[in-house]
This record gives sequence, structure tokens and C-alpha cells, in this order.
Amino acid sequence: MGVTVFATLPPAKAMTRSIMRNSQKCSKCQSTDIMRIPGDIRGEGGGNNIVVGWTFYSAVRVTRYLCGTCGFSEEWIDAADDIAKLKKKYG
Ligand SMILES: [Zn+2]
Repeated sequence: MGVTVFATLPPAKAMTRSIMRNSQKCSKCQSTDIMRIPGDIRGEGGGNNIVVGWTFYSAVRVTRYLCGTCGFSEEWIDAADDIAKLKKKYG
């Protein structure tokens, strides 16, 4: 009963920041032509990822948000699991 609370939603303060991933708007030119390019894990090191272990199975996917107007890009680790992996190694 009642209102469902989504615990994963960022606090209101974070939403007001100019971050492409959240706003779907370029933080440089304000264009809304934003592409989301998923991280790709390949054996030859050609993918967009961070390797946290000895094999590419332990790599972390980096998602890139690219502005189609000015070319500005931001990179984000989308999975909470992957952030945890990086924290373990570098934190
Ligand atoms: Zn832009």
C-alpha cells in the first residue's frame, strides 16, 4: 500500500547537475543529440573497458555518452557490480 520508494534514484541535488548521462543533454553545448555507446569487452584490448584482473572476463564495461553535435563525450561505469570491482582494486 502507499507510495513505492525507488531507493536507486539519485538525490534531487544530483539531478540538477549538468551530467549527460542523467540529463540526456550535452554539458558543453546543451544539445539533446546524445548517443549512448555501450562498453564492449574484447580479448584483443580493442574494447572500451578497464581490466581489473588477468583476463578480460574481469573487465569492467565503460559506457560512453557522446554528443552528436559537438563531439563531447563522457564515460560512465553503469553497473554497480563493476564499480564495486574497481573499488576493490583501486579504492
Ligand atoms: Zn555538445
